[in-house]
Amino acid sequence: MQLPDSKDLKAAAARLAGVAHRTPVLTSRTADAASGAQLFFKCENLQRGGAFKFRGAYNAIAALPAASRAAGVVTYSSGNHAQAIALSASLLGAPACIVMPADAPAAKLAATRGYGGEVVLYDRFRDDREAIGRQLAHERGLTLIPPYDHADVIAGAGTAALELFEEVGELDLLLVCLGGGGLTAGSALAAAAISPRCAVWGVEPAAGNDGQQSLAAGRVIKIEVPQTIADGAQTQRLGDLNFEVIRHRAAGIVTVSDDALISAMRFIAERMKMVVEPTGALAAAAAFTAAVPVAGRRVGVIVSGGNVDLTRFARLVSESSGAVSAGSDVCDVSSAGLTR
Ligand SMILES: *Cc1c(COP(=O)(O)O)cnc(C)c1O
Repeated sequence: MQLPDSKDLKAAAARLAGVAHRTPVLTSRTADAASGAQLFFKCENLQRGGAFKFRGAYNAIAALPAASRAAGVVTYSSGNHAQAIALSASLLGAPACIVMPADAPAAKLAATRGYGGEVVLYDRFRDDREAIGRQLAHERGLTLIPPYDHADVIAGAGTAALELFEEVGELDLLLVCLGGGGLTAGSALAAAAISPRCAVWGVEPAAGNDGQQSLAAGRVIKIEVPQTIADGAQTQRLGDLNFEVIRHRAAGIVTVSDDALISAMRFIAERMKMVVEPTGALAAAAAFTAAVPVAGRRVGVIVSGGNVDLTRFARLVSESSGAVSAGSDVCDVSSAGLTR
């Protein structure tokens, strides 16, 4: 297993140029005043497919030899990676087979099929999705592209942080939403290449701190499926490549509660006018709760995705009694803005 490096990151950036959105970087005076920090929000909720996952998926498929690409790809995911693979494969002319739980939300199944992916359903309680993925790969000659434990997926994910550093210069801290560790590992590689004094922190749900436990133990720790509203971070363990990169290059991993996620979603909606999914608010919640001490620092915050059913979003934020008044002081500091 080959760890990704800065060359892979550069190659990913070249493949994604003109294909991925160069997402905006926003600032908010209220957020800065409340945290005492200078916060720069990299808005991957506005990425194609609604999450940063497009970067890794597209990069991994584009990196395949032409013959493998033509034969097709397979993945297992119930979330943003499924849609990212389906969309990327259709852009690159590769057939895509997505293994999804039969009880996945109808909207997610429809979105994946809408991007042209062939959906293969499995029973979440009986079947092993990874085994089904491997079997399909074997039978049909497809290339398996897992959601995070893959060098090209990590390198692709890292291009979001790369753009952030290009946009705002060096940072003291970078906070990153953490599930299986693709985005955090990629961001840590980007920091090492461009802003080497920047401390990169992964942020995971308090209900599932397997990443934190793994760093403490010095090996990957697997936990039961955590009960959290952050459905994109309900991973049971870090990937092996991800763990290696994170333990060598990241400063550490902190956790935030579901309540803190809801407050962050509410703040971002009220003050910054954006819909962010619970998992996408992990890093912002860490800044707002000072899970990582941010006061007096220049801090990057990756907002990783915005795919949440609006009814669910409304229910979650109406449970919180955040005391922020309406208004907006959000500022787009990007030079590029949302361009293709
Ligand atoms: C997948 C996902 C994450 C977690 O990313 P990993 O690379 O698995 O750590 C965070 N936020 C969103 C919105 C996601 O879709």
